[in-house]
Amino acid sequence: MSMTQPIAHDLGDIEKALADFAAVLGTDAIITDHAALREFRDPFTYRESDEWDAAAAVLPTTTEQVSEIVKIANRHRVPLWVFSQGRNNTYGGPAPRVPGSVIVNLRNMNRVLEVNEELAYAVVEPGVRWFDLYDALEAAGGRLWTSIPDLGWGSVVGNSTEYGRGYTPYGDHAENICGVEVVLPDGEIVRTGMGGMTNSQSSHVYKHAFGPNLQGLFHSSGLGIITKMGYWLQRRPEAYASCWLSFRGDEALAASVDAMREFMLDGTVTNYPVILHGVELDGDGNPSFSPEADLWLTRFALYGRSEIIDAQWAALEEVFSQIPGLTMRRRVYAGTDRTSHAGHEDRVMAGIPDMDILELFQSVYGEDTAHLDFSPVGPLRGADVVETAHLMRGLYEKTGERFFSGLMLSPRSVIHISTMFFDPHDETQTAGVYANYSAMLEVMGKRGYPVYRTHLQHMDAVAAQFDFNDNALLRLNERIKDAVDPNGILQPGKSGVWARRFREASR
Ligand SMILES: Cc1cc2nc3c(=O)[nH]c(=O)nc-3n(C[C@H](O)[C@H](O)[C@H](O)COP(=O)(O)OP(=O)(O)OC[C@H]3O[C@@H](n4cnc5c(N)ncnc54)[C@H](O)[C@@H]3O)c2cc1C
Repeated sequence: MSMTQPIAHDLGDIEKALADFAAVLGTDAIITDHAALREFRDPFTYRESDEWDAAAAVLPTTTEQVSEIVKIANRHRVPLWVFSQGRNNTYGGPAPRVPGSVIVNLRNMNRVLEVNEELAYAVVEPGVRWFDLYDALEAAGGRLWTSIPDLGWGSVVGNSTEYGRGYTPYGDHAENICGVEVVLPDGEIVRTGMGGMTNSQSSHVYKHAFGPNLQGLFHSSGLGIITKMGYWLQRRPEAYASCWLSFRGDEALAASVDAMREFMLDGTVTNYPVILHGVELDGDGNPSFSPEADLWLTRFALYGRSEIIDAQWAALEEVFSQIPGLTMRRRVYAGTDRTSHAGHEDRVMAGIPDMDILELFQSVYGEDTAHLDFSPVGPLRGADVVETAHLMRGLYEKTGERFFSGLMLSPRSVIHISTMFFDPHDETQTAGVYANYSAMLEVMGKRGYPVYRTHLQHMDAVAAQFDFNDNALLRLNERIKDAVDPNGILQPGKSGVWARRFREASR
């Protein structure tokens, strides 16, 4: 069964839970003040709305404390919502799916526990930000690069378990996770994969498990709280080339998509390219919004020995130069260079975090500019990409929104991310954008393009779209939820999965 709104429900005995939390954590680690809790509202919903407010926040510093918090929540049947940095903006930020939940804020568990330069991995606590991981890698000798998303303030754990994306060869962040420690909804502490052996030498170097691989159960699921995570990293390359294609029109879009797929499949391009629509770049590679309707920019990179990069560039030129009107350019940096990059676009593909992209976004409605991203996934075929872009642009034209799109490429698939900007102080506009999203979801669902990640408000609608065999997938998720979290205390409603007590209450 799927539900469309958070429901009025018995959320347990919050007062008793708070007293027990205080006994374990101390009162300084608990926030109940209404004004202070406003920090944990979603900045991208209507600013005056209290529809998604938490009742309290707790800030543990150890795995054992997390386990105690979960046990207390079970005793008093109080729902918990978890974040690592809580910067999940455009998907709900730090806010809970069920109002009145207690937030488990993991920002104070922020140690980089290990950097293994030889085997190219790190082990992080959940509060570690991309900025922190970058600093730790540089301090350890600089022979490792991490992939990063566009903003450096998010957490490695939160972003990666949500299938977040970056732009280096390690840009599919969930793929980098190897070996997690997780607190289950009953408080038990488990280590996945090879880490299940106490003295394991292989926890973070071998990805599979003995028997079923359960790591994925803790991705975007609300089935556990990750307290430690192994994370694979890229060996610093000798050289790195930031590369761009620029072109106009459908034919060039289709041809360049097909050509890029082939270069990704044959290993010439190993990073995760992006095709942007609605922006242009200055000479330093800094973006600004461009009203020009048909300009497309493809950003990708090459990494490795200089002479190999030159040979790869020559192979790319041979193919892309045949596309009429397409222009190419590249900027090459030494792998050891971490300071002289021209702009954000060159830094982000070298794993150097910043916050620059916020300025671009704030150019739309000022400092508080909000946006809702719509992100259906389809096959990486030129003709499909053109057709989908037209369909999505048409949906934007209907609503009067400007069409700003970033296609995120993998060798076989493309996430068609488009962004609806709005002023979160404008209640009508904000409601309109969330309603437009629902309409777009329906159209793309009919096309067979599921979305990969969504805002709190649309989680039920998205989960319901996986309708094969009477929503067998959702029903299986519910069976697992009920088995692992019988009291329904951990992240109820996350990804559209509700524990039994919530499902029964909504009948
Ligand atoms: C301008 C802009 C640009 C962006 N660019 C990108 C981009 O390039 N790539 C990208 O992927 N995203 C991007 N985002 C989306 C988002 O901001 C980032 O993904 C961000 O890193 C997520 O926040 P976080 O890391 O703090 O995650 P959190 O908010 O901490 O966590 C996200 C979710 O993961 C789960 N979770 C978190 N921690 C745990 C845990 N320890 N155990 C179990 N579950 C947990 C929770 O359900 C939580 O809601 C962008 C957003 C904006 C506004």
